Amino acid sequence: MSLAFGRDHLAIPGPSVIPDRVLRAMHRSAPNIYAGPLVDLTKGLLGDLKSIAGCEGHAVLYIGNGHAGWEASLCNTLSPGDRILALVTGRFSLGWVQMARQLGIEVETLEFGVTEPADPARVQAALEADTDKRFKALITVQTDTSTSTSNDIPALRKALDDADHPALLMVDSIASFACEPMHMQAWGVDVLLTASQKGLMTPPGLAIAFISDKVWSLHDAAKLNTPYWDWKPRANPSVFPEHFGGTPPTHHLFGLREAVDMLLEESMEHVWARHRTLATCVWKTVDAWNAGGDLRCHVPKAEHRSTAVTAVDTADGDSSRLRDWCETHMGVILGVGLKPTPTATVIDSGFRIGHMGHLNPSMLFGTLATIDAGLKALDIPHGSGALDAATTWIAEGFRS
Ligand SMILES: *Cc1c(COP(=O)(O)O)cnc(C)c1O
Repeated sequence: MSLAFGRDHLAIPGPSVIPDRVLRAMHRSAPNIYAGPLVDLTKGLLGDLKSIAGCEGHAVLYIGNGHAGWEASLCNTLSPGDRILALVTGRFSLGWVQMARQLGIEVETLEFGVTEPADPARVQAALEADTDKRFKALITVQTDTSTSTSNDIPALRKALDDADHPALLMVDSIASFACEPMHMQAWGVDVLLTASQKGLMTPPGLAIAFISDKVWSLHDAAKLNTPYWDWKPRANPSVFPEHFGGTPPTHHLFGLREAVDMLLEESMEHVWARHRTLATCVWKTVDAWNAGGDLRCHVPKAEHRSTAVTAVDTADGDSSRLRDWCETHMGVILGVGLKPTPTATVIDSGFRIGHMGHLNPSMLFGTLATIDAGLKALDIPHGSGALDAATTWIAEGFRS
């Protein structure tokens, strides 16, 4: 008997759950795009997005997904034949690398495996080895969504500074933005990318690039730049549609405005702390399963993990039947496990729990309890008391 009635729950690492407030904000007739609320809203929205990013430069929008942000970042700063250094910690880092190579950029990769973040000492050594400073940029993800590792961005900035290397620091925070701390200016990030559908709780369709003033010298020499991707008119439009290279993404703007209001009402410090608390519940639960079975957090060390998504390893053959059971019988959709290759190949020895964006304990405990029931129903060996571990840990935080 399926119990999957009522509201289903999307526990994948993006797109994430869309709050009712955001849905309601989008449920409206087509607005005037020449003047009025939409035009007024956009200016304030860009300012608020910058404050969430800790950005003192410009925020630039595209009607696009995360891949649009990747392409924009490369085309606005580089020319064919330019060299960049890329840190690889999973499939999303590799996707950006593959795109750069397709654009004719020479990419040197540093591989850090798939269970650990980048090692800043190795990054510094690679930068120091580049004695004629040919690397124009260092590209890295903050969180690699396939492996759920989280890179230490200030440590990577320090590696650049200690190596006295002028390369731009370009960071993909698509999975981590508005989930994990980000202080773009203070951390010395030159280009920061995100998209609407993860921590920003809005449907897929908007890419956002935050750019520091340091980028303009490279931008003006970038031969990969094209009129549509060009940051300049989008950052300094002479007429409103230039923000978007054409017609604005009307309803996405209303939705994102509401989502940003929700984040600012909660305060970013609180949003980041909530994600850490809920992520720790996930880890406590998985650790308890692991005590009596073959399920574990893919990233061994808690300090290396993202607080937006957790990759869970299972015995080979267990993950797809578990995901199927959770969806069919319980209405909970889990993220697929991904092989660390540039193309999205699904594996059967792991799944991912998205815990980004609009999430509270009842939504998360529902997901964890559903997985627990699935392990039992499918006779997949697992330790007992997993939910107890999570609820006990949550309760501890409220004891005086
Ligand atoms: C989701 C994601 C992307 C890709 O975003 P799309 O919207 O699917 O193009 C890129 N990088 C990271 C880290 C992501 O989590």
